[in-house]
Amino acid sequence: MLEDFLDSVQQSIFADYDGKKQGYLRVPETQYNLPFTLIKGASSGKNLLITAGIHSCEYVSIEAALRLSRQLKPSLVHGSVLILPIMNISGFQSRQTTVVPEDMKNLNRVFSGDPKGSNSEKIAAFLSGGIFPHIDFYADLHCVCQFEELVPHLYFYGDKAQNSSAEASKYINVPFAVRSSSTNSACGCAANLGIPSLLIERGGNGIWSESQVSDMLSDIYNLMRYLGILDGEAKLFSPKELTGCKFIDDFPAGLWYPEKSSGSYFKKGESLGFIRDAFGGVIKNYIAPYDGAVLYQTASLWADSFCDLIAFGKTD
Ligand SMILES: [Zn+2]
Repeated sequence: MLEDFLDSVQQSIFADYDGKKQGYLRVPETQYNLPFTLIKGASSGKNLLITAGIHSCEYVSIEAALRLSRQLKPSLVHGSVLILPIMNISGFQSRQTTVVPEDMKNLNRVFSGDPKGSNSEKIAAFLSGGIFPHIDFYADLHCVCQFEELVPHLYFYGDKAQNSSAEASKYINVPFAVRSSSTNSACGCAANLGIPSLLIERGGNGIWSESQVSDMLSDIYNLMRYLGILDGEAKLFSPKELTGCKFIDDFPAGLWYPEKSSGSYFKKGESLGFIRDAFGGVIKNYIAPYDGAVLYQTASLWADSFCDLIAFGKTD
């Protein structure tokens, strides 16, 4: 039972009434107290897990998950919804972007984790070993980091769960979808256990706005209607699948001058951008290998391996 596990790691309770339970969970063998909200529906249905803040400064997703925790009424829910809005809590509170400050690891690259490992690995093990066995569907909310900009998009995860992940992805209102075979991310790990999983990306640049949060919430509400957790008909959006995606993470450091903005389409052979030295000299020109579209890219003038330079995929 999910509740038995939550009770075993419960640190303190903020509220417990009429099907809603809120408080803090202690990640075993760490100092981390993670806020949680468990909404237990009035009738049976699927068990949905929503996480945000696996990357600490992705504020649109964190704020959307916090609002959902406050808004969602148990009387309207079939099944249950567990919301963990700030997974990398020490990174969030120290405004350390992307990594867990205590071990400087990217939490979304250490799954399935290790309960005896470093702090990131312990958080990952807490999710994969403690919570994943009790859920039917997983949505992990993200943005790009403060040095990047994006067009909203999603990743659906597979192997055993790929068909149901792909089907669910059609109900998210973003222009592009990408099939992922990652196994060391939270969604990839869940998908390997047979749990359909989606990662939704909205926002970035270390900021958040009402309209972005509202769009992310609309995605989650529509997903809950698709899953039968909420009543009502889910709206079909069918994002375009990009294939052969390239995430340029190995490149010479320098100043980045993009030629295309995120979300824009390009033709094979067009320049996507230049890395230049401090005197304007071209260190590298990135040429499109096919017709495609840009998903996200570095937004700061300086580019190095801390963030991907640019990510794009094929449109045909
Ligand atoms: Zn992220």
